[in-house]
This record gives sequence, C-alpha cells and structure tokens, in this order.
Amino acid sequence: MSQSTRTVELPSSFPVVIVGGGIAGVSCLQQLALSCPDKEVIVVSASQLVTVSTNVKFLTKTLTQFDVEERKMEWLKTVHPKVKVIHARVTSFDPASSCINLSSGEAIQYSRLCICTGAHPKGLPGVVGADNNPNVVGVRDAATANELRRRVAFARCVLIAGNGGIASEVAYGLHGVHVIWAVRESYINAAFVDPGAATYLEGSLKKRADCKDESERKTENSNKESSDEYLPSWKIKRFNITKENTVGEGDVLGTALGPEWQTHFPLHGAAEESSLKMEYGCEISKVLTPEEVSKENIPITDLFSGDQNKEIKWPVYVMLTNGKCVGCDLVVAATGVVPNSSSFINVLNGPKSCPSDGNGIMVDLRMRTTTEGVFAAGDVCTAAWPNRSKHWIQMRLWTQARLMGLYAGRCIAASLSREELAKEKGIITNARGAQSPTQANVKEVSSENDSIEDCRTVEIRWKEDSYDVNIEDDESMYDFCFELFSHVTKFFGRRTILLGLFNGQGLNNEYEALVRVSEGEYVKVILGRDGRLAGAVLIGETDLEETFENLILSGNDVSSFGENLLHPGVDIEDYFD
Ligand code: FAD
Repeated sequence: MSQSTRTVELPSSFPVVIVGGGIAGVSCLQQLALSCPDKEVIVVSASQLVTVSTNVKFLTKTLTQFDVEERKMEWLKTVHPKVKVIHARVTSFDPASSCINLSSGEAIQYSRLCICTGAHPKGLPGVVGADNNPNVVGVRDAATANELRRRVAFARCVLIAGNGGIASEVAYGLHGVHVIWAVRESYINAAFVDPGAATYLEGSLKKRADCKDESERKTENSNKESSDEYLPSWKIKRFNITKENTVGEGDVLGTALGPEWQTHFPLHGAAEESSLKMEYGCEISKVLTPEEVSKENIPITDLFSGDQNKEIKWPVYVMLTNGKCVGCDLVVAATGVVPNSSSFINVLNGPKSCPSDGNGIMVDLRMRTTTEGVFAAGDVCTAAWPNRSKHWIQMRLWTQARLMGLYAGRCIAASLSREELAKEKGIITNARGAQSPTQANVKEVSSENDSIEDCRTVEIRWKEDSYDVNIEDDESMYDFCFELFSHVTKFFGRRTILLGLFNGQGLNNEYEALVRVSEGEYVKVILGRDGRLAGAVLIGETDLEETFENLILSGNDVSSFGENLLHPGVDIEDYFD
C-alpha cells in the first residue's frame, strides 16, 4: 500500500463520520477539533459510554502514560463544537454512495469515514463445548468485567486460558479463589515477556496468590515497594540467541477496558483461601459438562492435591491437551481479540487480501483503507504498509489506539484541506475540458498541507472526468508515532516498560540479550547482530527508558560497551552527548 492511485471524488459537504467511541474514535474527534473545528463531525457508537484518555504524561519522546475514563456520549459535545452523537450500531456500508446504514434504520452520508470499532474477545475458537457455554466467559468491556466480577463472587475455582496481558491481569487480580492458569508456552505472559522476565515476574504473582486476604496483600505490596528503595545487589547475564539454541518456546460492543480496570471490578472469590496452579505447555481441548464426564467415565485430576478421582463436584470440566481433566466453577477465556470489522471488511479489504491477523481492516501509513475517504484506527485495523519502521510493531493496546486515533484525525484533516485547496486552485472538479494542473499547482497542493504531507511525492494525472492522485510515500515521512514501539504498563503489580523489539520480534532469533537482575529491577536489552540496540524490557523503577529509547532511535553501535551497557555505575548516555 505504499504507492496508491486513488480517485478523488468525494462529497466534501457531508460530515466526517467516526464509528466507535473507544479511545481511537474519541482521540480522532479530539484531533479534528484542533485541526478542523469548522467541519461537522458525527460520532456513531454502539455503546452509550465513550472512553477518554486523561492525565496524559510524556515520559519520553515516544512513551506516554495516561488514565482512561468512561464518560457519557453527550460529553463529546464539549470536545468538538460541531459534533453530533448517535447511539446506534453500523450494520452495513456502501462506499459507492459514501453511506453507512445504522441499526436505527437511518442512513448517513460522509465525506470522510473513520472506522474505530475496536475488537472483541476471541473466546475459545474450535474448542468443542465452549461455544455458548454459560460457564465460559471473556472480558473486554465494562459489561463483561461486571459479569466476571459477579460470577467470581460465587466461585471456588477459576480456570484461566490464555497467556497475554488480560490473562495475566486476571490471574493477578483474582483472590479468595483457587486458580488454574493454563498457558500454551512454558512461561507466563508470553505475549509480552521472555522466559527470564516471566520467571522474575512470577515471584510477584505467586506471592500475591498465596496472600490470604486484602490486608495481608497490602502489607506484602508495601514491603515490596520499600525494598525497591535500597540499592539492589545485581547480576548481569549475557545470552547469545541463535536459531539453534532457541528451544521451541513458541514464542454487546462496549468500549474496551483500560488500565487498572480491576479497581472498579474487583475479583473476590468464594473460597476461604487463594492458591494458584500453573499448567504450562497446554491448551484447552474440550469443555465438558458434568454429565459428559460422568458418562464417559473420565478420571478427574485435582491439581491442588495431585489426586485423581471420579467425584463430580464442579459445574464445568476442562480437558487439557496434556490429558488432564480438571473441574472448576468458571473458565475465563483470555486468548486475544478479534477486530469488530464484519460490517466493513468485505468491502474494504477485498477478497484477495489476507492480513496476518485474519480480519483487521488494512490501513496504510496514513490510516487510509483501500477505499477512498475511508480511514480506520485502533484495535479494528491492521497496519499493512510495507517497510514499517524496524523498531515498531503493532499490538492492540490503548497506547496505539490513542496514537492511531489522533493520527487518523490529522490525516483526515489534511486530506480535507488538500481537497479544499485544490478546489480553490481549480484543479479538482470535473476535469473534462479543464487544463491539467501545472507542476506549480501540484507543489502548492502538497506544501500547503499539514506537515504529514511534506515528504510525499504527489503526482496528479488526469482522466476523462476525474483525476488520479498518485502518492508515493518515502521512508523519511514516517510519523513519530510509528517510529518506535513503546508501552508502559504494570504486570503483576510491577511497572513494566517495553521498547522497540523488546522480545527480539522479527530478528529471526539472531540477537544477543543482556540481562541485569536485582530484587527490585529486571533490565533486558536486545542487541542486534549489527551491534545496535533493538529493544528493551525494563521492570521496576529503572529510570533507563530515555537512555535506551535514545540509543535505539540513534542507531549507534554499542557493541564495544559489552556488559557495561547495563552496569549501574556507567552512565551510557554521557558517551553519546
Ligand atoms: P474499543 O475501546 O473497543 O472501542 C470500540 C468502540 O466501537 C466502542 O465504542 C463500541 O461500542 C463501538 N462499536 C463497535 N462496533 C460498532 C458498530 N458496528 N457500530 C457502531 N459502534 C461500534 N491496553 C493497554 O494498553 N494496557 C492495558 O493494561 C490494557 N488492559 C486491558 C484489559 C482488558 C480487560 C481489555 C479488554 C483490554 C485491555 N487493553 C489494554 C487493550 C485496550 O483496552 C484496547 O487496545 C483499546 O481500548 C482499543 O481501543 P479502540 O478505540 O480501538 O476500541
């Protein structure tokens, strides 16, 4: 999608329409309020609550931290002077007439459309007995989190399936309940960390799971925080990762929840004590009813005592791929998300396209879909431009939803202003009989635009009754939001910062990892074979994010530092000033 030929013929008098009131949609509106406050905007959302990012703090150039709040949809009117809000679901979409159809029966025409419909939990696809099973739940939005909270309150044992951020949050948040956590990999939280960091974090998880009540947990947390203040005794380890030594480690439509969601939906179970049992290297192969287990005479494993018996005492049973059949009150499926693209995808991606994640709406570097005037941002989209910055990867996270939303707003504003300008210069409208634009016109069109257009080669070719704009992107124009992957979060109560190719993604298992571990910190850097820093994982209050961000972005060869790169006594930034 780097070079595209697009027909520019849109009814610019129609409003900009944003579908979705999650972080991506609201951020897009906020940007439009700044960039084109006079343009009418309509926000259509299936949920009456919208998600807003607040208290945004810039920790480094690329790293932002913010809170997420839910507000009533009407609040959007305070954001943009010309916004109209509609509570409805988009059921279908017809780009030929620039029109979307709503569940209310209404049809709306747009000049630009921005699809920000998010994603929903994947569930347990292909698992026999899981579909529509009332004992299998997912968590995505306030409604599902509330349902989870309600169900956990009556549960003595919960089984979690999945190994990403949400599974980790649920495992850490549950207490007063026995927890079985089934993970496909040989370590926890594999979507974000490597086995070393996972082992480091597992300590915090187990300590918490073993705490009997809230007061004990608070004491445990405060002890941990105060111990972090002391200078750690640290150790640096060096790992040479090659293909050979990488052991098959495997590497209702509400708005999605934000960080700290468990403050509002605490997960207290009905057991007298808490415990956690990990089952590594396995997945769920079947979900069974008590009747099925009894009929098939399946032996049941009690993971907590190690016994096997045939006593039926749970409302739901799970057959794991390691052959164990275990019983529980509730199964939490936290196996990832699927973009909410069904109302749009067939028209937009076309039959031939195949994004890596199945059904994300493919967008180019300007958040444009394959259809003129239609943009997408946030969890619903798949970054499909070639030659992406080598240190940026897409992950469906609120940080990326926010940036993509803001950026889509800028791109929409730029495309509207380009059209306005072109009209003024008389180079849009029906081309029949009109002169083709001069090179001067073309330059003016691109230079008067927002800075995102600066480095673009724009060529306009005339056709019979319209014209094509041929836009050639070059690498220098990447916006900073897609330059470096950066994310700050908390795993198992520990502040975690991820930068660049933090897990060696895309390096084909050919890199070196340097790790420094102390009681209060875990610091890992990834060094490519070219001696340049490619990524970092920082757990604890390391204060190293800016240094490593600079080193990754500058592309300096740091191989000569060897292990000193992580030596607490060496101020690495000084060398590059
Ligand atoms: P959403 O917030 O999902 O919003 C989609 C919007 O579209 C909603 O308003 C919905 O009503 C609307 N919609 C959908 N379909 C239609 C339709 N057909 N018509 C009209 N409207 C429609 N990310 C992090 O970075 N850190 C975390 O700690 C973190 N924790 C998470 C914990 C949980 C439990 C979950 C579920 C997610 C978590 N995430 C986290 C991920 C993060 O919440 C999402 O990546 C982000 O919120 C996506 O924002 P979005 O605007 O793209 O989509």
